Parts: sequence; structure tokens; C-alpha cells
Amino acid sequence: MTQIAPGGTIGILGGGQLGRMLALAAANFGYRCHVFCPDKNSPAFHVADVVTIADYEDEEALEAFARAVDVATYEFENVPGVTAELVARDTLLRPGVRALKTTQDRLLEKDFLNASGVKTAPYMAFETADELQAAIKEIGRPCVAKTRRFGYDGKGQVMIKARSDIDRVIEVTGGQPAILEGFVNFDREVSVVVARSASGDVAAFPVSENVHTNHILDTTSVPAKISDMVEAKAKVMATRVANALEYVGVMAVEMFVSDGSGEIVVNEIAPRVHNSGHWTIEGAETSQFEQHIRAICDLPLGPTDARGNVRMKNLLGADILDFEPYLEDPKAHFHHYGKKEPRPGRKMGHVTWVDVK
Ligand code: AMP
Repeated sequence: MTQIAPGGTIGILGGGQLGRMLALAAANFGYRCHVFCPDKNSPAFHVADVVTIADYEDEEALEAFARAVDVATYEFENVPGVTAELVARDTLLRPGVRALKTTQDRLLEKDFLNASGVKTAPYMAFETADELQAAIKEIGRPCVAKTRRFGYDGKGQVMIKARSDIDRVIEVTGGQPAILEGFVNFDREVSVVVARSASGDVAAFPVSENVHTNHILDTTSVPAKISDMVEAKAKVMATRVANALEYVGVMAVEMFVSDGSGEIVVNEIAPRVHNSGHWTIEGAETSQFEQHIRAICDLPLGPTDARGNVRMKNLLGADILDFEPYLEDPKAHFHHYGKKEPRPGRKMGHVTWVDVK
């Protein structure tokens, strides 16, 4: 396996806050980062050594980027497949094209998870209104319709409880390929952030418990309020997913947990560092961002233990303007992503509280 020693250059596709925090972690180990993003106002540009402002379809720019870096990675999962293939032709791309393609499509993702022995909600693919009716008959109500691609923060989704909800589905999916999922009556949503290095070492962080508001992550808490057995099982499932994908880097596996039965089903996987792992920056022995850099550069993975009870809160939109209380709070760690416009719902920063053990 190819190790990229400190001092090397890491390419990052995508220039959002995840790219920014990756570049900051990389700098601690002496790496330089080259960030590729079409948006000239990208938060990751502020902390990058070199930037490329070009479209993801710009073959010439992608080739030059790939040749200029020792390893490339991505900070969002909707990097077009062709873009990833182009980059992978000229440099190491970690995680690889397979991880990206599998997780970009909810149907491929669920097929892959079940084939790997990891349980998901029951699901069926559909496109037309007739196929939708057949899927509802099979899966039953309540259920959730989701577009196969490009869904995030609840977009492209319809919860089907009453018969009248069915009419809205094709409106939302627009006849694009979609899946119908059985509704999971869960007690809590958790995630496991897990790293697998290029050499195949795997390390999972403690399970975090996530609360969403309006489909956007609001808070993450560690430890999650689950039994030791569920904690262990969730980590085993995430490890199995990372190994089955021969994944390299950090990924997040989102799961639904039912307290009574202790049953866990996987909702989705994100082939990148994840918002529900931000707590690790101050709350764990190694941050998810440093761990990703270690994994893709094939360095030894760091310890993943939590340093105490940890809580992370996202600062959305105008929340970011009211930062002073966080600076006055001795247990709070404040993060500002450097974005100019605090649009409603936009992730502008986060705060982490660590109650050291
Ligand atoms: P997703 O985009 O798949 O992460 O879904 C967004 C949110 O919708 C999840 O975080 C859950 O709160 C809820 N959700 C999604 N799928 C299901 C399901 N099959 N059963 C119950 N709730 C769901």
C-alpha cells in the first residue's frame, strides 16, 4: 500500500466546511492541501495551499489537479462518477470510485448493505405511479418514498401515511428512479463514524446519538443512550460495511435503534467525514478529520475514545451571529466556518461542549 508521508499534498474535491476542517487537520501533520471547487466563495479555500476554481466536468482542470496531488479525497458524496474516475486515473483516489457510486444511489446502497449482512428497512424500487402502487401493496403503510439520487436533509422524500399522501409522491420524485421504504418505528437515531486505512486497519468512534430538527442535524451527543450490547453491535455493523466496501477513509453509518428489542437497522451511509462526527474534534482522542487524513495517507489510525460526555450543536443561519455566550462558556468550543451569508438553515458553524471524565 502506498503511504503518503507528512509533507505530501492532499487533493480535496469540494470546498465546504468539511473540506475546510480536513485541510486544517492535514496542516497539523505537515500536509499541504489543494482544494478543487467550482464556487469561488468556498470556506475551504481560506485554509488551502492551492485552490482550483473549476467545474466538476472540466477535464483539463481535473487532470491538472490529479497530477498535482499525491492522494485525492472528497468531502461530499455527489461528486459526479465521471469526475471521480478521471481523478482516479492520475492519482490515488481514497475513498475510491466504488464507495462513491454505491452510496450515491439509495437502491445500490441498500442492495449492498443487505448483501453484506447488514439490515435495512424493507425497500422496493419504483419510477411510475403503477410501480409505486405495487410497492405500497408489498411494503404497506406507513412508508417513505425517496429519490434514489441527490436526496439530502429530507429533500426528495415523502412520508406516506394516509392514502392522500400517495398523490404527492410522483410530484416530488418527478418520475425519477426512487425507492419505497418501510417506516421504521425507531426510538433513536445514532451514527457510527468509522475509519479504515489503506492497509485495512479499522477503528470506530463511540456511537453518537443524533437529533434532527426539520430534517437537519441539530445536536449530537456521546455517549448515546443505548446499552453496551447495542453500542458494540452498531460498531460491528459499521466495521462490516467498511470492510465489505474495502473502504479507505472515514465514513459515517447512520442507524435507527429500537430500545425494546435492541434492533438496529442502517438508514444510510455517507462516504466522507460527517456532521455527526464533529464532536470528535475536542471530544475524542483523535478527530474524525485527522483520522481521515491518517487513513487515506496510510498512517497508523489514532485512538478513538471519547474524552468525556460530549454534546455538539449546529449553528444554522443567524444562530452564528450570537456567538459571545459560547466564547464566555469555559466548556464550549466554538467553530465558525467563515461563510459570509447566514441564510436560514445554512450550516454556519457548531459548538461542542466537553465534560471531561
Ligand atoms: P434520510 O435522508 O434517509 O437520512 O432521511 C431523513 C430522516 O427521515 C431520517 O433522519 C429519519 O428521521 C427519517 N426517516 C428516513 N427514513 C425513514 C424510515 N424508513 N423510517 C422512519 N423514518 C425515516
